[in-house]
Amino acid sequence: PVAARATDVWKVYGAGEAQVVALHGVSVELERGRFTAVMGPSGSGKSTLMHCLAGLDSVSRGRVHIGDTEVTGLSDAGLTRLRRDSVGFIFQQFNLLPTLTAEENILLPLAIAGRKPDKQWYDTVVGTVGLGDRLRHRPHQLSGGQQQRVACARALVARPEVIFADEPTGNLDSRAGTEILGFLRDSVRDFGQTIVLVTHDPNAASYADRVVFLADGHVVDEMRQPSSEAVL
Ligand code: ADP
Ligand code: ADP
Repeated sequence: PVAARATDVWKVYGAGEAQVVALHGVSVELERGRFTAVMGPSGSGKSTLMHCLAGLDSVSRGRVHIGDTEVTGLSDAGLTRLRRDSVGFIFQQFNLLPTLTAEENILLPLAIAGRKPDKQWYDTVVGTVGLGDRLRHRPHQLSGGQQQRVACARALVARPEVIFADEPTGNLDSRAGTEILGFLRDSVRDFGQTIVLVTHDPNAASYADRVVFLADGHVVDEMRQPSSEAVL
């Protein structure tokens, strides 16, 4: 089963002299329950591919599916629903709401979707990220690593079809980064969560089951690997 698929996706920004072809007919299948890393140097098209897969940005040509839903073909309302119900995001900048506590941040996507949290699942997720008494704290009272754990729990609690993590360790020291990568890997192994990690960091990518390499908007290589503990 495929959680997300890009089929011959092209993305062109701008026009005329300023035109940039960010994706040149990229095709990639992301299997359900897998941890896939999309790796490549800065400017290779990683963020663009992620944005197209997640319904954050339109494609110039080609097709994108999340589960059985064709994303390229959805109305704006359909896209909003897709982002709300089927995908989760973890960003480099954490993107937590500063006025809400950790717990309120974690529960926000469910609240917006009008869904009741499954108490048992919530406890499992919160227990796994290990925030303890910090659940009542606001983001500014938390370290970067703790804020990113809140963001991980927020993504996971809604059980989305796919979680997209865009350079999630970019603002963390190596120890906090290792914890987050380990947590993402465990949530694939223990909960069957599908995760796509976007990174330029080979060490981060080494946590994934599979690495797709992008260069200049092309998929240039692909590698499967046994999930292994990376050495920092
Ligand atoms: P990263 O390399 O970490 O993806 P970027 O600096 O490339 O970060 O991109 C950050 C944001 O700026 C993205 O949302 C991207 O779409 C946008 N962006 C990147 N390059 C350009 C550009 N040349 N013109 C306008 N927006 C851009
Ligand atoms: P990466 O995430 O690998 O750093 P991006 O997807 O951000 O790469 O960018 C791929 C290419 O597309 C780069 O040349 C970048 O400058 C360009 N680009 C990205 N976003 C925009 C944008 N909004 N407008 C114009 N060019 C962009």
